[in-house]
Amino acid sequence: MKIQNYINGNFHDPVDQQWLDNYNPSNGTVYGQIPNSSKADVDNAYIAAKSAFPSWSQTTLEERSRILIKISELLESHLQRFAEAESKDNGKPIALAKSIDIPRAASNFRFFGNAITQFASESHESVGQQAINYTLRQPIGVVGCISPWNLPLYLFTWKIAPALATGNCVVAKPSEVTPMTAYLLGEICNEAGLPKGVLNIVHGLGTTTGQAIIEHPDIKAISFTGGTATGAHIARTAAPMFKKLSLELGGKNPNIIFADCDYEDMLNTTVRSSFANQGQICLCGSRIFVEATIYEQFKSDFISKVKQLKVGHPSEAHTDIGALVSKPHLEKVKSYIDIAKSENGDVLCGGEEVKVQGFENGYYLEPTVIEVKDDTCRVNQEEIFGPVVTIMPFADEDDVLQMANRVKYGLSATLWTNDLKRTMRMSHQLQAGIVWVNTWMMRDLRTPFGGVKASGVGREGGFEALRFFTEAKNVCIKY
Ligand code: NDP
Repeated sequence: MKIQNYINGNFHDPVDQQWLDNYNPSNGTVYGQIPNSSKADVDNAYIAAKSAFPSWSQTTLEERSRILIKISELLESHLQRFAEAESKDNGKPIALAKSIDIPRAASNFRFFGNAITQFASESHESVGQQAINYTLRQPIGVVGCISPWNLPLYLFTWKIAPALATGNCVVAKPSEVTPMTAYLLGEICNEAGLPKGVLNIVHGLGTTTGQAIIEHPDIKAISFTGGTATGAHIARTAAPMFKKLSLELGGKNPNIIFADCDYEDMLNTTVRSSFANQGQICLCGSRIFVEATIYEQFKSDFISKVKQLKVGHPSEAHTDIGALVSKPHLEKVKSYIDIAKSENGDVLCGGEEVKVQGFENGYYLEPTVIEVKDDTCRVNQEEIFGPVVTIMPFADEDDVLQMANRVKYGLSATLWTNDLKRTMRMSHQLQAGIVWVNTWMMRDLRTPFGGVKASGVGREGGFEALRFFTEAKNVCIKY
């Protein structure tokens, strides 16, 4: 199957007729081709977006909201088709795509369709000076959205929906490894009545198609989710052009377990926060720290639960762990298991590739738990982004705080305890954009989302996203 770019409401081959193979990670075969778009395709997408801009930004809030909510409804009505496409492209279990990825993409459009009608700006009366100031929140114009492969439609729409809600026109690129649901989204946008050119989707490699977006002098803002190295490259490229940037980058998140927690709840959630989506979620708790008094008990209970996880074909309803996204990614994750061994890490379970019967060329890996002796070792410091977690004991609060923060990333942290004062102390001191206490990945779309340190710059979610996609202008009137 060949997919095309979505430009000006129509589907187009790439200008240069260059194509890339698209692999099915569950069996390692090529099942389609996608445009290997060049700068010329990005330029065409920009021209379409630019010509749609003024009129889209002048539509009433009710009209914009209505169209976004219609897109949401259409995604819901095509749930099965989108979930199958996502699972096939990415290797994630179909159950996950159906219960999380696609419903969340629909929620993104519904949420921002509603949020824009509630987006107020401030005014200040300058008492004694007979003047009043008010703030206009104006759309930026044409903006670029670039997203990764791990939660393809979920993260793609998390950027596009607020960009459109605020009246911008968009040039967007999904990951080259997982383009399918972004391609299908174009059809849905036409059906929902989104005017031509308001959203343009260009497929291709990060280093060419993505690069053309970030280098485009008239694409004035870039919302990017992906790796920290790519984020740094984007920041360097965009700086001389003074583009507005939102960068959601990597994570190496601590999962901190105190002896006074609700044990069963913690255990079940920790299995999920370690291995959901094959561990390929930026928020996964990949460094598990356990209070020494319950460490041996936890180790034995956790490993016994992890061993029960079923690695299997993504289309099977009972699969817990599907395929990793690509062969190079599988090799990268495996290389970290070797690094762990060379650093005296103890592989307590997993560590081997799995041959799923009938799909022997798929990219499957056992869920892997590594006991480490020293928190500064590489497997405990570098983002692996696969079904691999480390565990180690800690003595007390100060000890674990030091280890939790002794890493270059700062995306999320999870804390398991029933001690309120400790919760308050630690939530304030953990270096992270998000702290979950006695839960994991519970999301309310009104809340700010993002990281500190090498996990990024800026916040998405709620009004933070609407602020990012608008320029604030102060108007001062003397009366
Ligand atoms: P990458 O940084 O490799 O790619 C992300 C996107 O950027 C892809 O669309 C990619 O295209 C594109 N890209 C690559 N190079 C360039 C370039 N020079 N200019 C413009 N665009 C470019 O990340 P991955 O796709 O490998 O995603 C995994 C990473 O994403 C992990 O580090 C993970 O932690 C992070 N992530 C962060 C989240 C957060 O909210 N903080 C959420 C989810 C993931 P292509 O795929 O074609 O190379």
